[in-house]
Amino acid sequence: MEDGAVSQSRRGCVHEAGHAVFFVITETPFEYVEVKPHGAGHVFEGRAVEDELLTPTRKEHRCHALIALAGEMAERSILRNCDEPGLAKDRVRMSDALRGLARDEAHKQELEKRCRLAVEELFQRTEIRASIKLVAETLARKSRLSSASMKSLVSEEARRVYREYPDFDIE
Ligand SMILES: [Zn+2]
Repeated sequence: MEDGAVSQSRRGCVHEAGHAVFFVITETPFEYVEVKPHGAGHVFEGRAVEDELLTPTRKEHRCHALIALAGEMAERSILRNCDEPGLAKDRVRMSDALRGLARDEAHKQELEKRCRLAVEELFQRTEIRASIKLVAETLARKSRLSSASMKSLVSEEARRVYREYPDFDIE
């Protein structure tokens, strides 16, 4: 069933579920995740104006790099392919986050490899994949999930897998 053509709405649900589950496991605040009927979606962070003035911490940069990659990885892991043109914005977000962690361009490229490996390894864990599948199925029915309902859909096991995983930017 998951081979061949994947509907845009299913792709959107899986992709946004990847981002949203990573918001939860990295304990990054957000307000809701939404997928429109034609498959376009986003996670609304609802950042307050005063937060814009704060410089993100290393932890925030690290979490945002992982979150940015998690949409693509959810498509690859659950749908077995990904929609390349749809990933441009995520790549910019990941790049911005990694720049905040890197000493220079070469270090940034090294961090990108490590970030990718970290997300790939986290996606190999059934605890994390199960939470993403559950969120994707729920999004397909409800189209919008608040941060509170997201938290009830992501298992404690999935959060623990992330907590026990080493930070990808530690030398
Ligand atoms: Zn995305």
